[in-house]
Amino acid sequence: MGCDLFSLATSGVQGLSPYLPGKPVTELQRELGLDYIVKLASNENPLGPSGHVLAAIQAASAELTRYPDGNGFELKSALAQHLGVDLASVTLGNGSNDILELIARAFVSPGEEILFSQYAFAVYPIVTQAIGAKAVIVPAGNGQNSTEYGHDLVAMASAITANTRLIFIANPNNPTGTYVTQQQFSTFISSVPENVIVVVDEAYVEYVTVSDYPATIAWLAEYPNLIITRTFSKAYGLAGLRVGYSLSHPDVANILNRVRQPFNVNSLALTAAVAALADTTYLAQSVALNDAGMEQIKRGCGTLGLKMIPSLGNFLTVDMGQPAAPLYQKLLALGVIVRLVDNYGLPNHLRISIGTEEENQFFLKQLSVVLA
Ligand SMILES: *Cc1c(COP(=O)(O)O)cnc(C)c1O
Repeated sequence: MGCDLFSLATSGVQGLSPYLPGKPVTELQRELGLDYIVKLASNENPLGPSGHVLAAIQAASAELTRYPDGNGFELKSALAQHLGVDLASVTLGNGSNDILELIARAFVSPGEEILFSQYAFAVYPIVTQAIGAKAVIVPAGNGQNSTEYGHDLVAMASAITANTRLIFIANPNNPTGTYVTQQQFSTFISSVPENVIVVVDEAYVEYVTVSDYPATIAWLAEYPNLIITRTFSKAYGLAGLRVGYSLSHPDVANILNRVRQPFNVNSLALTAAVAALADTTYLAQSVALNDAGMEQIKRGCGTLGLKMIPSLGNFLTVDMGQPAAPLYQKLLALGVIVRLVDNYGLPNHLRISIGTEEENQFFLKQLSVVLA
């Protein structure tokens, strides 16, 4: 019979539930044989890759037999210049997900506490569980210290104990799209003990247009325990290549550099990210398409009488006013993939990524069919 392999895994790993990704288009195609499928399920960029990025990848492919630059010098230099930070404060990751994990592994031992909000990004509990740390989940705001469903930073500050090592803040948060303001963040960060690492996950920062959004980079000098994470997966359109980065005190970057795999970002991703950063036209188009699409989806859902959580991201989480799973299934049958968020404790909501005008239109049409 052999031994019970499951019992060989660490207790943290035994308690893990795997991350649930959006359903791939090819999978639905195999299952239903549909030829027109719209996927609005993984907050991907609907524009498709930038032409400059494709050309850069083509040129870099001649060097595929070589290992990538393990220090990512060109991308770090480009980021440092673009953001006005010191090159030594930049850490590159295989997606920002990689960096979230590196941070937990570098700073938190089994049994110590990692703090995050109810409804926060699903990767935080996974990372916490994987290293055998203790998740402390702070109830979301109710409109007093934050918008409904948002991170309540007052409650989060009060939940810090002598055992807290790390706090994750998604700003804006996925799947709610809610954000914390400059004022809320400023009060919070000044009250956090300096031996507690604060991660602000800014995966959607490029889409943000509100003026009271915290300018966190300016605070790095004052708060050496602050780490900002960002990604090329969303507004820059490179989700398939896996590249993200963090900004932090150079000593923190030095620690993360010891934990990461030596070649954690591949050569095509490094080259593509440099090209993406330079392609300001593509970024502007992405943001404009998102703004227009967000209005389109909000208008359509409003017409159907649905309530929505106001979002700063490239997605909108909509209250269906009834269990969302059957609606999700019916939408699949009609060729539309959206995202269930019942695993976040939101069984009546669906998260819709903003697509092109045509994709949004198709989604709204099929949504009205399944609601009829
Ligand atoms: C999409 C997302 C990420 C980015 O993931 P990558 O690993 O960079 O693709 C990080 N945080 C949040 C909140 C996200 O929604």
